[in-house]
Amino acid sequence: MSYAVKECFLTLQGEGVQSGSRAVFLRFAGCNLWSGREQDRAAAQCNFCDTDFVGTDGEGGGKFADAAQLADHVLATWGEGEDRRLVVITGGEPMLQLDPALVDALHDRGFRVAVESNGTLPAIGGIDWLCISPKAGTEVVQRSGDELKLVWPQEGVDPSDLERWDFGNFLIQPMDCEAREEALGAAIRLVMDRPRWRLSLQTHKLTGLP
Ligand code: SF4
Repeated sequence: MSYAVKECFLTLQGEGVQSGSRAVFLRFAGCNLWSGREQDRAAAQCNFCDTDFVGTDGEGGGKFADAAQLADHVLATWGEGEDRRLVVITGGEPMLQLDPALVDALHDRGFRVAVESNGTLPAIGGIDWLCISPKAGTEVVQRSGDELKLVWPQEGVDPSDLERWDFGNFLIQPMDCEAREEALGAAIRLVMDRPRWRLSLQTHKLTGLP
């Protein structure tokens, strides 16, 4: 199988439980909840996206003919050193392209494989760290994993419903929007009211990392 990659770069994981960890970010092109075109945003199933996942023209992006070629590219992006190799596979929606062959090829090269998905497609096996970020109005089929990351506030989502799902960590992340102060306040209030949740901040936006 071939893969369409928007970008692939070395950075620190900015969000969630593994925030601050050195990681290769592998962003697949394409999402099943929005075309990525501004003219389609209002009618999209997910309309608060802050990510450009269209095409293969980003830093380290391109088309890769097979899993070995893409895994070699990830390894080259990581560079020297074998300690705690981590790749964060995101998108777009990574489950549109991620397959067991790529997971195996990354494991063969010593990487732990973390994935960030919207949960509307079932996750494949072999993933070392699975983060699901549900979007209002969508049918989330992947209701277990390591980290549930809820962007907040989202009309139509009741956090108490999500607490029944099988996750090791429940994170609330303020929505990055024009009303970001209000979103931060709402996220803090939710954590104060419901201690199962923890606040996740987008530290890459504070540090200026990509
Ligand atoms: S599901 Fe994720 S990648 Fe897709 S449009 Fe929404 S925020 Fe963007």
